[in-house]
Amino acid sequence: MAEPVGEVKKFRNPGFGRRKAVPHPKGRQLDPQAQDEVRTLIGDGSHDHDLLIEYLHLIQDEYGHLSARHMQALAAEMRLSQTEVYEVASFYAHFDLVLEDDTPPPPVTIRVCDSLSCEMAGAQEILKNLPDAAGGDVRVIRAPCMGRCDCAPVAEVGHKHFTKTTVDELAAAAKAGDTHPDLPDYQTLDAYQADGGYALLNACLNGDKTVEQIIETLEGAGLRGLGGAGFPTGKKWKFVRMEEGPRLMAVNGDEGEPGTIKDLHYLSQKPHQFLEGMLIGAWAVEAEAVYVYIRDEYPTVIKLLKAEIAAVEAAGLAKHTKIHLRRGAGAYICGEESAMIESIEGKRGLPRHRPPFVAQKGIFDRPTLVNNVESLYWVPEIVNKGADWFASHGANGRKGLRSYSVSGRVKEPGVKLAPAGVTIRELIDDYCGGMLDGHDLKAYLPGGASGGILPASMDDIPLDFDTLQPFGCFIGSAAVMVLSDKDSVRDAAFNVMKFFEDESCGQCTPCRVGTEKAVKLMAKEKWDLDLLEELCQAMADASICGLGQAAPNPIRSLIKYFPEEVPG
Ligand code: SF4
Repeated sequence: MAEPVGEVKKFRNPGFGRRKAVPHPKGRQLDPQAQDEVRTLIGDGSHDHDLLIEYLHLIQDEYGHLSARHMQALAAEMRLSQTEVYEVASFYAHFDLVLEDDTPPPPVTIRVCDSLSCEMAGAQEILKNLPDAAGGDVRVIRAPCMGRCDCAPVAEVGHKHFTKTTVDELAAAAKAGDTHPDLPDYQTLDAYQADGGYALLNACLNGDKTVEQIIETLEGAGLRGLGGAGFPTGKKWKFVRMEEGPRLMAVNGDEGEPGTIKDLHYLSQKPHQFLEGMLIGAWAVEAEAVYVYIRDEYPTVIKLLKAEIAAVEAAGLAKHTKIHLRRGAGAYICGEESAMIESIEGKRGLPRHRPPFVAQKGIFDRPTLVNNVESLYWVPEIVNKGADWFASHGANGRKGLRSYSVSGRVKEPGVKLAPAGVTIRELIDDYCGGMLDGHDLKAYLPGGASGGILPASMDDIPLDFDTLQPFGCFIGSAAVMVLSDKDSVRDAAFNVMKFFEDESCGQCTPCRVGTEKAVKLMAKEKWDLDLLEELCQAMADASICGLGQAAPNPIRSLIKYFPEEVPG
């Protein structure tokens, strides 16, 4: 019989609707015990995505590593895909991932810094001899700069840092389980208030000071971003205020540039001067919340800030905003502001393309004021003492004060508060007690690993923003590393290039592949200068962020100023 016109013929898959039951649910199965353990750790904390890194820290602190079952349980708990949790956990150097067939790390890990100042002070010897001395139940690994370059060599046993350390000291600490640091002797809230602290913040909150007055003072003082970029602080506050609210604020406490030790110095001594500056900044831009991002290498700072932020809140000084303390996880690139913002949002620290700038679209795409710790530290003192007080300092035609982090072959390394624009000679002779006995100045890195290398013959350049660019260098965070006639500049350049190779976030090819290639070319007995320059140009021109753009600096400095050390 013919089928009725217009009726749709139905085809049927003979197997449809009769699929056999699968004996096990598909994919990795949730471990109920892991789920309970993760729930216990999180408690009634928020399940928002931005807390992912904080919760990974909680798990690792409790269990010593991140197992697949815990990561899966965390993903389920936070309603994230397992891939998202894995990609974040695997991005950060301080997370130890243990997948099914892997062996968990030993209970104690010793991280030995092998960045330039520590390498000059014998880090490689420690790395060679420590595994035997420490014994089998201890893991010894190399690590990048820990922010204590004035006391090199430095290593971290568990979470405790040992400075000017030795193999014997580290082995003994590991055996004794001496892994938890003591807090430094810092100025408490009471002591700071007794000294007049927070009076300025109260004046701002009470309307006795206007935002315009504060910004005018900062501009008059010439305060600039002291994390490295040097953008005028007052102008930045103005820009953020011009954006439509709601606004947020982030504090960059991820000073990972090798040689930089100043934020640790100020936070460990006078945390409330910084907190007052931060709260004034939040008031000035009407930030609903402030995210304070501190590198994981500073566990004592994180601990003391947690306590002091609670004290400030209890004292009613932070009613105009909400403070969130965030812990980094071992990624130099998170010192780059947009990478830090990604990390604050609980993601991998991949720098963003700009525009839009973070002042327009920062944390959660909201206009965000990003300031370095030290910039904020100076705000109360500058406003209390007046713009002229800060601007009246300065040397060799420059204005203001700078905290130079000095390490290497000087008698008294450390944070040196000196007039902006001092020369390396003045810094060494007048602030650092001169060169070490038996050492003559041969070279210096004026701005950490990224800022290039200059010869002793160029010892009369004012060290400040904008003064070093004509020489292919920059001051950045003012991390000054001093090399002597006993050091090889080629080795120093190689050390910092290996650092860049390790710390490249891998997002863009010129930097990811370029730094790796550069290390290989620099390891050769004879350098191919044309190829190296081509590589440098590609990195400088085409990298997304400052890491890849500045990575050629050590190579170019060596070729330009130290041709006698260029192999071949
Ligand atoms: Fe990442 Fe390097 Fe590219 Fe910066 S330049 S985004 S660090 S790969």
